[in-house]
Amino acid sequence: MSAYRLDGREVADALLDEVMEAIRSLDLPPKLVFVRVGDDPASISYVRSKERLARRAGIFSEVVVLPADADQQELLSLIARLNENDRVDGVLVQLPLPDRLDETAILNAIDPEKDVDGFHPVNVGRLWSGQVGLFPCTPTGLITILDHFGIEIESKHVVIVGRSNLVGKPAAALFLRRHATVSIAHSRTKDLPALVRQADILVSAVGKAGLITPDMIKQGAVVLDVGFSRDDGKIKGDVRPDVAEVASYLTPMPGGTGLVTVAMVIKNTVTAALLRRGGND
Ligand code: NAP
Repeated sequence: MSAYRLDGREVADALLDEVMEAIRSLDLPPKLVFVRVGDDPASISYVRSKERLARRAGIFSEVVVLPADADQQELLSLIARLNENDRVDGVLVQLPLPDRLDETAILNAIDPEKDVDGFHPVNVGRLWSGQVGLFPCTPTGLITILDHFGIEIESKHVVIVGRSNLVGKPAAALFLRRHATVSIAHSRTKDLPALVRQADILVSAVGKAGLITPDMIKQGAVVLDVGFSRDDGKIKGDVRPDVAEVASYLTPMPGGTGLVTVAMVIKNTVTAALLRRGGND
């Protein structure tokens, strides 16, 4: 048996169709502003791929680039201007920022209604308390993948490896909202294989190639690989490819969760526009 491939491209395309339909209901297409500091090649490439998708969806986007030596105040003033600008629906500050900048203070300065990355504490609170809001793109992407392929979440035991604010914790909140039973593992978890073996749905968000091996997987489990690392220039996930011999469904890496994450940024921008302009998401 070989696991069914949960193709991220297929899900991203479906999301984009949905988004384009929603944009047609707006008087004016949404506008998303990317803020980038310095010339980190990975940040340039991430912003470019999000911009490309925004264009394809019919969203206006703009990239504001600050010099690598920009100070905290410059960035905060820029965010304040974008918050006040009624034409702007979404603001995304590309991470990581240079070390000397206070990343938390900067993310907290973004208007929660324009926070398309879903990192603002107001949106974190909305997520955990079951309210409407803007939620982080990778975890919402995971739920979208499962829904797209008709995979049941309710009452399933979801094991999430990784507890970051970016992926692990918001994923736990989203799966709880969908009535799953959730376990979260991290670097100090005792006997990771024993816990992972209990998973009906496994999410691995660590960044260590080959961490998840076939002997750790329950027969027929669904496996979502979020981890990303490079080995000899090759992109690797956390999940060893031969897990496909035990799992029922598996996201490929590359070509899986990452493509859906980028599409979720676009979906969140449209959600922000609809919420700000008094529509429904
Ligand atoms: P992060 O902040 O570094 O978190 C990694 C998590 O893994 C931490 O909670 C850490 O535990 C845990 N961990 C480390 N070693 C472990 C081990 N041996 N056993 C169990 N848990 C272990 O990273 P992140 O921002 O969440 O990202 C995680 C990975 O996903 C990275 O590879 C990143 O590049 C990738 N990523 C992919 C996408 C996508 O769309 N596919 C999006 C975002 C991120 P502690 O908390 O105890 O340190």
